[in-house]
Parts: sequence; C-alpha cells; structure tokens
Amino acid sequence: QFPFGRRLPCDIYWHGVSFHDSNIFSGQVNKFPGMMETVRKITLSRAMRTMQDLFPGEYNFYPRSWILPEELSLFVDEFRTMKDINPSWKPTFIVKPDGGCQGDGIYLIKDPGDIRLTGSIQSRPAVVQEYICEPLLMDRLKFDIRLYVLLKSLEPLEIYIAKDGLSRFCTEPYQEPTLKNLHQVFMHLTNYSLNIHSGNFIHSDSVNTGSKRTFSSILCRLSSRGVDVKKLWSDIISLVIKTIIALTPELKVYYQSDIPAGKPGPTCFQILGFDILLMKTLKPMLLEVNANPSMRIGHEQELSPGVFENVPSPVDEEVKVAVIRDTLRLVDPQKKKRTDTHLSFHTYLLIFPTQLQSLHAGVAGMKDKQHKHHSLKLSLKLKFYLKLGSCQSLQQVPEVSAEPPDAPKSLEAALPSLCLKQVFPKYSKQFSYLRLVDRVAALFIHFLGVRGTTKLGPTGFRTFIRNCKLSNSNFSMAAVDILYIDITRRWNSMGIDKESGMCLQAFVEAFFCLARKKYKSAKLLREQVLSLLELCEKRLAALHGKRLLWGCG
Ligand code: ADP
Repeated sequence: QFPFGRRLPCDIYWHGVSFHDSNIFSGQVNKFPGMMETVRKITLSRAMRTMQDLFPGEYNFYPRSWILPEELSLFVDEFRTMKDINPSWKPTFIVKPDGGCQGDGIYLIKDPGDIRLTGSIQSRPAVVQEYICEPLLMDRLKFDIRLYVLLKSLEPLEIYIAKDGLSRFCTEPYQEPTLKNLHQVFMHLTNYSLNIHSGNFIHSDSVNTGSKRTFSSILCRLSSRGVDVKKLWSDIISLVIKTIIALTPELKVYYQSDIPAGKPGPTCFQILGFDILLMKTLKPMLLEVNANPSMRIGHEQELSPGVFENVPSPVDEEVKVAVIRDTLRLVDPQKKKRTDTHLSFHTYLLIFPTQLQSLHAGVAGMKDKQHKHHSLKLSLKLKFYLKLGSCQSLQQVPEVSAEPPDAPKSLEAALPSLCLKQVFPKYSKQFSYLRLVDRVAALFIHFLGVRGTTKLGPTGFRTFIRNCKLSNSNFSMAAVDILYIDITRRWNSMGIDKESGMCLQAFVEAFFCLARKKYKSAKLLREQVLSLLELCEKRLAALHGKRLLWGCG
C-alpha cells in the first residue's frame, strides 16, 4: 500500500482484485487487464459457445448454457424440441446469476417455467446451464476440484498448472436431482463457503480426509481403484489449455487497450482458479474460472458467540503456498536477468565462435547431461510411484522442471521442486489449430486504430472490408454498413458496457457471417472461417508489402 505514491518502480506488483494502476511503466503485475470481465459467467459462456460452434467435439467439456434474459426463448424452444424428440427426457438445469460467486443466488430447476423471472433476472442477468446429474462420488458425496493455473504470458502464450489442487466436498450424501431434493444446497453445491455452515462439515488436519482435501489424495484413491489417473490428468490439462485458448482473444483486446504496444508498460501474469467437476465416467467438466481465487490458508472458527479465531488449514497451506512461491519463482526478475546474461553469452558466441566454442560445448554438454540426469531420475521416481499405486500426495511425484536447471543453484537449491508444470507452449502443437478466434481478434485489433479502445467504429469496419477486398457486386458497401449496424446494435443492447462501437464478440459474429456467405460450399464453419482468415491475412500482407514498397520509393 502506498497512500502517498510510490517513489521507485517495483519489480513485481501484487494487486488485490484487478489490474487498475495506469501509472505502472515497467515490472510485472499479477493481474491482466479485463480478466475479471472475461471470466464472468456470461462472457465465459459466450466464449465457450463460439468455440463450440467451431470445434464441437473439442469443446464438449463445458455444459450447454443459455444466457438470460436474452436467450430465454431459445432455451424454451430447445427444451421443447428435445422433449418432443424424447418424451422420457427429464433434465435438470442450474441457474447462476452473472458475476455471482460462492453459490450466491444459484438454484436448480426441472422446467424452464421455474426460472425466477421477477426481480433478479431483469436486473441481474444469469446463465442457465445443463446440470451434470451424474457426478463422480466419493464416500457418497459430490465434490469438485479447484486447480490453480498460472497464465504467465499472453503473447507468447505460456500456461502452467499446479500439480496439486483442492477437492471440496458436499456435506449431504448425493442423490440425483428430484423435485424433492432440488433445494438441498449441501447435496448439490460443492462451494466451501456454503458447506462450512453445514453441521456435517469436517475440518481435518489430514489432507486425505474431511470436507476439503488435496486433489492428489483423490487421485491416489482413484488409482487404487484401478483408474487411469494419467489419462485423467491429460484430460484436465487439455481442458485448461482449451479454456485459455477460448479466453485469449478477449484478453488481447483489453491488453492492447490498457497497455498499448510500443509504449512503456508492465507485463502481466495471473493465477486463475479453475473449478472442475468429474463426471461418473471420469470426464472432467469445466464449471467456471475464477480471476481471484481465494489464497487464504486458514479459516475462522467461532470460539464463543462473536469471538473468532483464525485456524490454519493444512490442506490450503500445502496447495496454495506452493502456488504462490512458484509463481514468484517463475516471474522472478532476477531469473530473467540471468536468462538475459545467458542470451548475451550466446550473442557473444556468434561474434567469437572459435575462441568460445569449446567453452560453450562444455557448458552445453554439462547442461544437457544435468538435464538428462534430472529427467531420468524423475522418470524413475514416477515409474516407482505409478507401480506403487498409492501415495500420500502428488507432491511426492517430482515433476520434470519446466525450467532447464541452468539457473544459479544457490537459492533454487534450497527450494522444493516446482509445483507448477508448464503445459503451454509445451503441448502447443496439439492445440494450435484451435486458435482461430485469436487470429480473428488480431484482425480486429489491427483495425481498431485508435489506441485505448476496445470497440471498432463503422469506419474501422469499412476499412477492414475494403482492405481485405471483401465487398463485391453481391455484397455492396451499403450491405456492409447494414451488417455493422445490425450486429453492433444487438450486442450493445445486451451489454452493460456503454461505449459505442462493435465489440470483439460482435466482430467475430460478423466475421463468421461473412465466412458462411463467401464459402458456402465448405461444410464446416471452421473451414469457412479458416478460408476467410487466410484470404484476409494474405490480402493484408500484400497491402502492407505494397505500402512498404511505396515507403521505400
Ligand atoms: P459460484 O461462482 O457461485 O461458485 P459455480 O458455477 O462454481 O458458481 O457453481 C457453484 C456450484 O454449483 C459448483 O461448485 C458446483 O458444485 C455446482 N454446479 C455448478 N454448475 C454445475 C453444473 N452444470 N452441474 C452440476 N453442478 C454444478
């Protein structure tokens, strides 16, 4: 806290809730601009829907969702159609107010007619979502998983996942939803903040028992039942990467608006809390992403009426301390300096290759050997662990460090191995084809023109059409204006944001509409979008090349 202003710039800024300080010109901030808005229930559902439209098979880990009030009639229609096709279908839905947390205002329904339309929906939009009726149970209780994910950088994309998380348990034995039990929050909602008020809540000193446990303890139990926990982990990693890929386009728009490229500004990183539910089939389903996951490592206990004491929680401590410690290790500015020194060493090598070649070979060889030795040791331990089939905690499974072991060891050596495991760019090859909306966002940002805005004006949209040569006799500039007005008006009537112009999601809709029109013969939306993207990128590159030539001439 600096009530009288800061004198010196900091290496790392740790903001409480969101990115908000426009007076930071260097260093790193622990929040991304716009993250809170991007992971709100409605925005997340929209981003997921866009990805589900493009890649239905890849994004089936997010329950089908509708946005209220604007999609109420769509929800009702789809419900009726499904019911007509299959009269024995008896689904349950969960209604969640936008921007809510800790289970606040959430309720279950069996019929669209049960949505509470009075009051809250009008003033507070919500998401209605398919309820996962068959979750995996443990000790007959429903539980969810909180995983910590570090978004270390947006461009290039760098994602780390903590190898242990929390499992939060309900406090009433689970039964599939019926009209009788729909209201039993201790049976259906896993929120810690709700269940702690149940008489059945168990505070435990052990990480393997009680109403809050480590996720690794769950994995150990599953492993002892013969479950393929490696496959489960890899499904969870895919879910996390795909979700972040869905969020990056919007985040990039906020980023360029708050921290314009080419001007001095900080870089950002952020710890996110992913809430995941395992289905009975062991398929992980995303419930939500939290921009500000609680990092408390204790809870309050009422000793006598009105007198509270802060009691440490071993489970929270085990998981959260490691996440914060390793985040700081990964963003450590000293480490960056060391890497820079390392880089300049390589530059030096280019200048004096012969003198330094042998030294370099020695260091590289040593590093390589060190790394191989390190990996071998770890893989042996991993095999041992898998063979053993039971363990106390995944902490016991050392990870192959994402960082090559080339940093000075004095400080690092004293610390435990990293709990944060790099998953992107490590697995980028498998997921890069999903980054189509990212490329649409790059076009959008290109035409935003004026820095500091997140919305495209009509002139910017026209320039996009003109520069990419998308208008023709079938699609006049007048039709372009109508498309802009139609889509923009609809999106602005839904949003709370009063800034005029076309937001990214509206641009994406317009882009999809143009792609469908231009590439009618392609069967899949993703093929149509890809073709239009390639065309636009090619035409802009040609135009840019021409401009450069004129500049030279
Ligand atoms: P909040 O931000 O208020 O915690 P969540 O989306 O996390 O909202 O939902 C609260 C709880 O409701 C979750 O922890 C989970 O137990 C339950 N829940 C949420 N969505 C679903 C769903 N689609 N199916 C089954 N249970 C769900």
